[in-house]
Amino acid sequence: MLGAIEAGGTKFVCAVGDESGKIIEKIQIPTTTPKETMSLVKEFFIKFPIKAIGVGSFGPIEVNEESAKYGYITSTPKPGWSDFPIVQELKAAFNVPVGFNTDVNAAALGETTFGAAKGLDSCLYITVGTGIGAGAIVQGNLLQGLSHPEMGHILVRRHPNDTYAGKCPYHHDCLEGLASGPAIEARWGAKGDQLVDRVEVWDLEGYYLAQALMQYILILSPQKIILGGGVMKQKQVFTAINKYLPELLNKYVTLPELTNYIVSPKLGDNAGITGALMLALGASHSS
Ligand code: ADP
Ligand code: ZN
Repeated sequence: MLGAIEAGGTKFVCAVGDESGKIIEKIQIPTTTPKETMSLVKEFFIKFPIKAIGVGSFGPIEVNEESAKYGYITSTPKPGWSDFPIVQELKAAFNVPVGFNTDVNAAALGETTFGAAKGLDSCLYITVGTGIGAGAIVQGNLLQGLSHPEMGHILVRRHPNDTYAGKCPYHHDCLEGLASGPAIEARWGAKGDQLVDRVEVWDLEGYYLAQALMQYILILSPQKIILGGGVMKQKQVFTAINKYLPELLNKYVTLPELTNYIVSPKLGDNAGITGALMLALGASHSS
């Protein structure tokens, strides 16, 4: 049996499952203080004979094993969680190997192993939710360098009619600043799920995401692009992306049929937690 945690800014999803990706039991714990949240996490896992734990976490996190802070959630503005050694806490509690990566890298791994990118050796998983982030599988491996990629913070060209300043505390009008769920809410004055009939909202969303996808395609050349997260529940955003992306690429790159190339997660909301199970499996093999 393997343990999996999808650690998010609002909730922790904890699950136990097996190496076939089957989830046996799953719970949600609100993200409050590390002390409170982690004690409920431990209470859940203590009931099961787990041989490893995988964590897909909100970030930024330290994934470089050479670093003294490996296993830490690092510079988050989330109160109490900055410089929190989550891997060390879990190892101390359960004495099992712990796999650790970003939430989006976990989702990319889940979708490549069992979902929309099954059988492919590259894919890009992008979440458009409270933040924007992406995880990439390149030549069969999760893309990692100095640290994990932060693809949500790239710069995009502003729409000439868009006067909204942008929501990113670091860069204002980066992609996340202009196109995340909170950016939509701040620009239009209502949450995304209240704006379903406002065609211009989703057209602008597609305008920005298509630019981002263009850059990701040009740089990484993924075989499949999977778009998840709350905002992508609006299927009209896919339509807008499919309108703008060909205009931007202007036939310079040949892509497969877009409705089959840019897709929703096949594992749905379980992409991240299933990927975390695979991080646990990886950790159990390498220990
Ligand atoms: P998180 O990123 O916190 O893990 P989500 O992926 O659900 O969670 O993203 C939350 C954001 O997505 C919020 O800004 C919310 O307003 C937006 N959102 C959630 N559901 C929808 C929906 N059905 N349509 C449009 N926007 C949505
Ligand atoms: Zn930014």
